[in-house]
Amino acid sequence: MTAAALGKTAAAPAQTAAKPLVAATDIVQEYEQPDGKMLRVLDSVNLTFERPSINMLLGPSGCGKSTLLRMLGGVRPWNVATPTSGRVEIDGQACVGPHPDTVMVFQHYANRPDMTVRENVLYPFGFSEWKRRVPPKEATERVDQMLQEVGLADKRDQYPSQLSGGQNQRVALARALVLRPRVLLMDEPFGALDAQTRSNMQDLLCRLHAAHPCVVVFVTHDVTEALLLGDRVIVLSTQPARIIDDFTITERQPRSQQWLMGADVRVMYERVVAHLRASGGRGNMRVTV
Ligand code: ADP
Ligand code: MG
Repeated sequence: MTAAALGKTAAAPAQTAAKPLVAATDIVQEYEQPDGKMLRVLDSVNLTFERPSINMLLGPSGCGKSTLLRMLGGVRPWNVATPTSGRVEIDGQACVGPHPDTVMVFQHYANRPDMTVRENVLYPFGFSEWKRRVPPKEATERVDQMLQEVGLADKRDQYPSQLSGGQNQRVALARALVLRPRVLLMDEPFGALDAQTRSNMQDLLCRLHAAHPCVVVFVTHDVTEALLLGDRVIVLSTQPARIIDDFTITERQPRSQQWLMGADVRVMYERVVAHLRASGGRGNMRVTV
């Protein structure tokens, strides 16, 4: 993938290390089943992410997308060693736990119900790692700026229960981006939103990504969402999941409806749907052209 293909990436700070920002090498993940047998979920997965870009991860339901995403974020399940074999590296260093340059956003935004919008976005700066990194004045400035950027400045003193699903997801996105991550991992973040809100959130993500370039790895069921947002589209097979397709899209953001309805996109769309069907997707993907 070239910098020209990604457009905005040319302005991103150069990585000093020759190693890729994120590298997952020969990843295998197995989980023990209740009957004692081992279930192989991921098999020989190799992925690198070098420079700021939006990378869409698709695959049949249950194939191991969340497992892979959590692994990239250094999040370990309590019941199992992960990965079973292979390694994840950030800047060439083994990633064996949560990394300060990496944040995750989930479908169920994980906002604290007892905190206002502003307190929710400020929340990570209360942890010692971030207290050390960012002085309190800068933290509050960043939070106020980020609330403007996600369009929630006027909701800053409200509580999550007073907000819509889309607004709650904006809070979660603000809390992630306020940390200025180099890697943003998103697990079906817009999957529970209605179509109009999802479309608004997709636009917002593109604008925020242009303003805060980073490697986004975004899991989705929605083939159209992948083609609308992705600089790169990665498709996993059914279990044990391997990478069965990995291609780039050079069309610049924002991508128009006209582009989305064009022949080139139709070809990409059919290609991904064919992979998912061949992998036993059985209607588990969402199709929203
Ligand atoms: P996806 O996100 O693609 O739907 P997941 O990564 O959540 O898939 O899960 C892949 C498979 O691994 C599923 O069969 C799931 O039941 C199993 N699995 C996920 N996490 C665990 C775990 N901590 N322990 C045991 N099995 C797990
Ligand atoms: Mg999942």
